[in-house]
Amino acid sequence: MSILVYIEHADGAIKKTSLEAVSYATALAEKEGKEVVAVALGTIDQGALAKAGSAGAAKVLQVEDDKLNAGIIQAHANVVAQAFEKVGADTLVLAKSSLGDAVAARLTIKLKAGLVSNVVALPETDGGYKVKRSIYTGKAFAYSEITTANKILAVKKNAVALKADGADASVEKLEVTLSDSDFAAKITSTDKATDEISLPEADIVVSGGRGMKGPENWNLIEDLAKAMGAATGCSKPVSDSGWRPHHEHVGQTGVKVAPSLYVAVGISGAIQHLAGVNASKYIVVINKDPEAPFFKAADYGIVGDAFEVLPKLTEAVKAI
Ligand code: FAD
Repeated sequence: MSILVYIEHADGAIKKTSLEAVSYATALAEKEGKEVVAVALGTIDQGALAKAGSAGAAKVLQVEDDKLNAGIIQAHANVVAQAFEKVGADTLVLAKSSLGDAVAARLTIKLKAGLVSNVVALPETDGGYKVKRSIYTGKAFAYSEITTANKILAVKKNAVALKADGADASVEKLEVTLSDSDFAAKITSTDKATDEISLPEADIVVSGGRGMKGPENWNLIEDLAKAMGAATGCSKPVSDSGWRPHHEHVGQTGVKVAPSLYVAVGISGAIQHLAGVNASKYIVVINKDPEAPFFKAADYGIVGDAFEVLPKLTEAVKAI
């Protein structure tokens, strides 16, 4: 019996969230005495796909049809369902993402499978198959029981340790049957609106609040973000004031982020802002007020004036 992992890739590499899903599947396979097989769709170098082995996959099946490069949900769901049957899997693991959620929803019907999304731990199997998941933007946990033979588990970003010590996986081509109806909706062209790193997917985010005093000082945030390879974000009043575009506003009413590192500069840490960032792995807060509420949620804090701290921090990062 196998556990199948649906892998997403971008810019010629497997996404980190998918490697986390493979790591999760590997731990689950060890517990259940199964093998981990991954499936990847579209054009990507075989050497890059073999890296799924570092996280524990024995084999990667590649369906190399360039029509699959655009994430056409129906086609992806159809391919994954065929791969699931072919490898004799009873569990599908994937990363929780906008594409993953849409594909998983369709697969619940195709595979007659129970789905749990935002999974943060291996299932508990004493007296049922109970899966722990994160709810209310990471503020609480719930257990969901799956009672079907087939299971789908969508793993929350940054919730599991990334395994990186395995040998390269073997990569095999998988033949599947696809019809025109799988591509009923087509993406005819895509234009990148910006070369900036996308905020919802960024691994590092540097965010500024009202403590930055005005848009004329945002170069300090951008310089640190550039040095760290980070996306930039902001608090709501900052975008409401027109200092930054609305798509950068992080929080309950804005973008929810889950980076490995969130750096908050001159942001007080109101509950509505924290609702968008508390899935971050590490939070660093820079604020001149030692009583700022954000320090309670921080892993590391710097009490100081942003205008003094940021240039020094940027220089230090550049020197690494
Ligand atoms: P402030 O609260 O003004 O804090 C500025 C901080 O900067 C202070 O802590 C200060 O000590 C520090 N500071 C000042 N000068 C310096 C300096 N030189 N160096 C270092 N630190 C300095 N907010 C969001 O962000 N996202 C949301 O999605 C959101 N949704 C909301 C929804 C609702 C229904 C409501 C009512 C509010 C919402 N808010 C949201 C607003 C939220 O309540 C706060 O008002 C807001 O987050 C505060 O933004 P701020 O921390 O940038 O500003």
